[in-house]
Amino acid sequence: METVVSGIRPTGNLHLGNYFGAVKNFLKMQDEYKCFFFIADWHSLTTHPHPGNVVENVRKILAEYLACGLNPEKATIYVQSDIKEIAELYLYLNMNAYLGELERTTTFKEKARKQPDNVNAGLLTYPTLMAADIIIHRAHKVPVGKDQEQNMEMARKFARRFNTIYGSELFPEPASFSYTGEGIKIPGLDGSGKMGKSEGNAIYLVDDAATIRKKVMKAVTDSGPTEPNSVKPEVIQNLFTLMDVVSSKDTYDYFNEKYNNCEIRYGDLKKQLAEDIINFCSPIRERIMEYAANPDNLDKVAAAGAEKARASAVATMKEVRKLIGFR
Ligand code: ATP
Repeated sequence: METVVSGIRPTGNLHLGNYFGAVKNFLKMQDEYKCFFFIADWHSLTTHPHPGNVVENVRKILAEYLACGLNPEKATIYVQSDIKEIAELYLYLNMNAYLGELERTTTFKEKARKQPDNVNAGLLTYPTLMAADIIIHRAHKVPVGKDQEQNMEMARKFARRFNTIYGSELFPEPASFSYTGEGIKIPGLDGSGKMGKSEGNAIYLVDDAATIRKKVMKAVTDSGPTEPNSVKPEVIQNLFTLMDVVSSKDTYDYFNEKYNNCEIRYGDLKKQLAEDIINFCSPIRERIMEYAANPDNLDKVAAAGAEKARASAVATMKEVRKLIGFR
């Protein structure tokens, strides 16, 4: 059976982008593959050097994972920092990762631009830590959103490079995976690129109805199409992209036709979109509340997951050390 690995940083609550870009795939994959899903707390230090109460942030994501339907009986669910072997593999991978290729990574350039006062080495070596996360379980498939494509290319490169340098076939080349074929990118409501936990432009799974309505009604629009069948400007396309994932096909087609006939009223579209998002989020929100109310249970789930993940990581690291030449 093929192995799957993926993780999410505990930098805030899960949002629609995380759900449709990553978690939705996790849910199906846990029935079909050997799955490892983790909470990437080390990764969060690259952008959030003082992550406040890390334990609470991690519990929050864990409650949300479970509320979405991740099942610890089917998948190994764990916290990255519980598996110290990942840090050791990260160290070895860094020895064969070159400054030029790391500096050229788009995510590095973007993050460096956003936090010019904190261009840290962790930010630069994000792709090697991500590669270590994945290959520590010798994974074949990685369900991630479109934003991670280049980092996945780097992970494949580092896996291949390790195999070549140490004359082994230890690591398979991990492939990005999405059931829809190509990865999805859920836009932010501010019309500027992707929805992100740290971007302040997200609709969270835990948001209540009033909050969702307020956020959607505030989304940027324009004065409407003046010619039939015209290409949608980005801010409008963004609303349709959201509608495509949360609304019925009939609803989507109805508003699309209105747009194409220059009859669209964005207020109506936003109202409908808000109601469909509320219908999607509210059962998840209820389950999040239930899981969050029982932190002991969450800690137990994390401890059991860590044990299983560690066994897999320890087995890989034994091979890695032998290949490099350590005793
Ligand atoms: P941050 O804003 O703190 O960087 P994030 O919301 O981008 O956080 P990550 O933890 O970096 O989330 O990513 C978790 C997973 O969710 C990844 O697989 C990523 O591809 C996916 N993802 C994040 N945002 C989106 C989005 N807007 N559309 C689709 N997938 C997304």
